[in-house]
Amino acid sequence: MSAFVIDAFEFSRLKERREGAMPVTDLTRLAEELADPSGTLSWVLIGGANHVAHPQLTLTVSGTLQIICQRCMTPFAFDVDSESTLILAKDEASADEIDALLDDDQVDVIIGSKALDIIQLVEDEALLAMPLSPKHTECPDTSALEALKRGKKESPFAMLKNLK
Ligand SMILES: [Zn+2]
Repeated sequence: MSAFVIDAFEFSRLKERREGAMPVTDLTRLAEELADPSGTLSWVLIGGANHVAHPQLTLTVSGTLQIICQRCMTPFAFDVDSESTLILAKDEASADEIDALLDDDQVDVIIGSKALDIIQLVEDEALLAMPLSPKHTECPDTSALEALKRGKKESPFAMLKNLK
């Protein structure tokens, strides 16, 4: 069994804490969405219980992802800094029950598992943290780059002129 697989209920009951960092290349679903899969994501997972004693996990994920701006189509660095509270339910029925009871958009109810994969949790968290249509707040001015390209094309002629 992978070192990243936990018994979610035991982890919460014992108020365990685990943390680590994983290369983005290991997160294949996430990597597909990116300009390039460089970098790592740091995560912290803490077990506990909420105010009405439901077992819960608190997951924090942070790092920098290289995503593509949908306006100018150039990559830019997006900082992930996300924290989620995940309430553990035994099954689908009790998940719905807890969801209705809490009536709180800030928490997610998930089906807890005795073999919960932390890597999957971290990847889901990062995917949810990403903007649906990522854009620079201000796109870089590409006209300077264009001018540079044109400049390069013109340079052989400039060189010929210099030879005359
Ligand atoms: Zn842009």
